[in-house]
Amino acid sequence: MPLSEFELIQQFFSNSDTCRPDVSLGVGDDCALLNVPAGKELVVSIDTLVEGVHFIKGADPEALGHKSLAVNLSDLAAMGAEPAWVTLALTLPSVDENWLAAFCRGFARLAAEHNVQLVGGDTTRGPLNISIQAHGFVDAGSALRRDAAQPGDLIYVTGTLGDAGLALQAPQNNLPLSIQLRLDRPTPRLAEGQALIGLANAAIDISDGLISDLGHICDASGVGAVLQVKDLPCSQAVCDHIQMSNDWSLPLSAGDDYELCVTVAAEKQAEVERLAMDFECGLTKVGYIEAQPGIRCLRADGQDFQQVSAGYEHFITA
Ligand code: ADP
Ligand code: MG
Repeated sequence: MPLSEFELIQQFFSNSDTCRPDVSLGVGDDCALLNVPAGKELVVSIDTLVEGVHFIKGADPEALGHKSLAVNLSDLAAMGAEPAWVTLALTLPSVDENWLAAFCRGFARLAAEHNVQLVGGDTTRGPLNISIQAHGFVDAGSALRRDAAQPGDLIYVTGTLGDAGLALQAPQNNLPLSIQLRLDRPTPRLAEGQALIGLANAAIDISDGLISDLGHICDASGVGAVLQVKDLPCSQAVCDHIQMSNDWSLPLSAGDDYELCVTVAAEKQAEVERLAMDFECGLTKVGYIEAQPGIRCLRADGQDFQQVSAGYEHFITA
């Protein structure tokens, strides 16, 4: 006998490993009851993963549980927020208990790692679709936003760029596991985002590629940017790929890395670089903001670098 909707929720979603004191009422009633601490702003974001668009049919459910939460937490990271609660709207073609158990394992492990509690959701039948809303806090008025970059700011990125893109395009068995994991189990840069509050002027997470996402900062802030292509931080596997192909599109415009891109006033360079010594993923200066609109990529010799495509866009077809 397949589980009823009620039994399914009971079995898989009622007991969060995390129990936060700011949750008066979690899963089980019509709504959750949640308490935002005094002096904090609520930071809210939602993301949907659709089978066939964001992941392939038959994708590992444990990795999906991780990734669907990670991409949401990455949005909170980009605002410098501390995550607190999530809701989960799941549309499933059928009730497959093994699939659900694996999905919940991946989801719950990442949630517990960041003290995030699942407080509600919705479960329906249909083509596989995972929609997660994440909620977090920042001190009121202190969130990192896209619209506050200033000409002269230095541009930094966390981690390395292009790994997820490489995993997507290369045959899986030729890649180091660490690269495949960057696509399947991205790490939301939460501690880094929070540490950059008060230091960064603007921030965004890189979901659609550096050029595209830095472009959002530029558009929102009414500025432009210069990127020094030789300074882009890349893993050995991506460096090897670039050397073979002479194609820089992985670090410049491939998506799904979920690193942070931030801009920092030049007078805070020493302070931010001192802080970043504690970042396990590293923080690399890749360029600067200028008043002139548009993004210019420069080669090591200072000449313009002829650019590739901008990044992933859902509603544009080539
Ligand atoms: P309603 O009909 O009032 O929307 P539901 O039967 O959809 O109630 O859900 C019952 C309870 O279970 C609610 O508290 C809801 O938030 C929770 N819930 C349902 N699906 C999920 C899910 N996938 N993850 C977490 N909580 C869920
Ligand atoms: Mg419902």
